[in-house]
Amino acid sequence: MNAPREPGVQTPILDLAADFPILSRPVHGRRLAYLDNGATTQKPAAVIEAEARFYRESNANIHRGVHWLSQHATELYDGARATVQRFLNAARADEIVFTRGTTEAINLVAQSWGRPRLAAGDEILLSTMEHHSNIVPWQLVCEQTGAVLKVIPVQDNGELDMAAFEGLLGERTRLLAITHVSNALGTVNPVAEMTRRAHAVGAVVLVDGAQAVAHQAVDVQAIGCDFYAFSGHKLYGPTGIGALYGRAELLRHMPPWQGGGDMIRTVAFDNTTFAPPPQRFEAGTPNIAGAIALAAAIDYVQAVGLARIHAHEQALLDYGTRALQDIPGVRLVGTAQDRAGILSFLVDGIHPHDLGTILDAEGVAIRAGHHCAMPLMTRFGIPGTARASLGLYNGLADLDALVAAIHKAQALFGTRGGTAPCTGRAA
Ligand code: PLP
Repeated sequence: MNAPREPGVQTPILDLAADFPILSRPVHGRRLAYLDNGATTQKPAAVIEAEARFYRESNANIHRGVHWLSQHATELYDGARATVQRFLNAARADEIVFTRGTTEAINLVAQSWGRPRLAAGDEILLSTMEHHSNIVPWQLVCEQTGAVLKVIPVQDNGELDMAAFEGLLGERTRLLAITHVSNALGTVNPVAEMTRRAHAVGAVVLVDGAQAVAHQAVDVQAIGCDFYAFSGHKLYGPTGIGALYGRAELLRHMPPWQGGGDMIRTVAFDNTTFAPPPQRFEAGTPNIAGAIALAAAIDYVQAVGLARIHAHEQALLDYGTRALQDIPGVRLVGTAQDRAGILSFLVDGIHPHDLGTILDAEGVAIRAGHHCAMPLMTRFGIPGTARASLGLYNGLADLDALVAAIHKAQALFGTRGGTAPCTGRAA
């Protein structure tokens, strides 16, 4: 059970680990403290069962068969789309395109929206804290079109430099591609405000929601963005499925980016016509079971309540931040005012990879490295960090296990009692 340990620390309110079968398996003979939710989340029994049930009871290809099973599978798949629509508060179900995940969603926008529209000298604005998935697709499209990247700098505390952002916006800005939550620092960016500013100069806005959707309610109409991308596997759903929200007005005018079955209206050797969105962007047999299990994950998260999940994780974040700051020699990287459940840190004298290995032997699973955010690591002058990332099933015991394992690592390396101050400045 979770209980407050220190005065002033909010109390975590959820106790849901029992819903997640994998969390009861020991690792290296220890109780598993799974703190790598930024990489991928574990799945509740309800999601595992939804995927298995589809194959047991409903499996058939969709949009093709006249037989009952095919129609049944199609209804389930279309129902999953409606679930994602409600989850993001999109205005219409046909604004939701199923993809393999965030990466594919961003590549879709780069190739279908960006490539036909961008020209030499056009500017794509992104930030130093982007995941490689929100950098490389734009670099590719820049090579293809002559557009150029402009980069919003990050301040020492891990927040965006908003004055610099204002200065970079201009009449050549065609697109703002910005992460909602930084996977490496946890910084929550003011995406609604940034969208408003970008729209004022006529730019289109894509928000990378990979690290946001599991931690706070997202309303794409309130944000006002044109595109929003996320991955199911970071939301307690399966791998290989995610979604792109795109405003109907934009999707309608975007050409296909992959050709194949299910995305056409008619095919002839001299002329092929395409289906309307979202089918136009879903060539081939999609991940039907994945979409249905993603809908089950959304149902699960919504039954718990995103407001409660947020409150729970903020309490854990508070507790973890204080606990890490209390360890001499530990430095937090990223101390933004508004942070989602990520603790990125360095331990003096211990390389993050060595730390990760020692923690693993104690049953504590974290991520160590550059977190697919190499430009951000370069900005802070470090090769990487250790990252503990929170999920709704974590409790204070997981953070206590993390702290105990860090002490053990310091003892092993003979670095216990280092003197580095906790400034939030990593280098
Ligand atoms: N964007 C962010 C902020 C991420 O954290 C990640 C994955 O860690 C991605 C994009 C890519 O997600 P996926 O690999 O599921 O496509």
